[in-house]
Amino acid sequence: MTHSVKIQQQKNESDAALWDRGVARLGAEFSALPPVARAELVPLLAEMGRLKEEIVLLSDGADGSALCTVCNGACCRVGRYHPTFLDLLVCVAVAESPVEPDFATAACPFLGSSGCRIVPSRRPFTCVIFICQLIAERLPEEELTRLARMEEELRHLRRRIAARFGGRLAESFFLEMERSDRDGVPVLTPTTDGGSNYGN
Ligand code: SF4
Repeated sequence: MTHSVKIQQQKNESDAALWDRGVARLGAEFSALPPVARAELVPLLAEMGRLKEEIVLLSDGADGSALCTVCNGACCRVGRYHPTFLDLLVCVAVAESPVEPDFATAACPFLGSSGCRIVPSRRPFTCVIFICQLIAERLPEEELTRLARMEEELRHLRRRIAARFGGRLAESFFLEMERSDRDGVPVLTPTTDGGSNYGN
């Protein structure tokens, strides 16, 4: 085994451990939220999933998924850094296990032989809003306008959730997890509009 392969293998193992730790930690923080905070957060996350689904459905109208499968994810090379805590929280909030990353692949750890293995409602925000040239060229002007409107709605919702439940939620999972591991600060830090917390 060459030195670079060994380094990569170690990186993959540490990312796999980081993933497991991060998902478990998010689950524990979500369960520890006061019921009033959970009751507010869950429908917002469901709405986020619905919007993502709608955006992907629209791009699929231009054969988006089929084009992605043929292309085999040229835009997915750095997908490892696309999921945010917020993307994962959509699964955690409904006691669903997020799709397991496969770090052995050189491409995105969520890319399978038929395209992305994550269902649209759980897919990272960055992936959902990226409409490649091939797809954009096939969409009529009014659909592109509708996509832009939905993207803005989704951005607004994410900002709102992050402002209320923790700014770190919208950061890249792998990049932020390393920092969170070091400083031990929770990811979910709910506040009310006035800045006081829910009693945590
Ligand atoms: S998560 Fe899915 S859509 Fe996003 S980069 Fe990875 S394979 Fe591509």
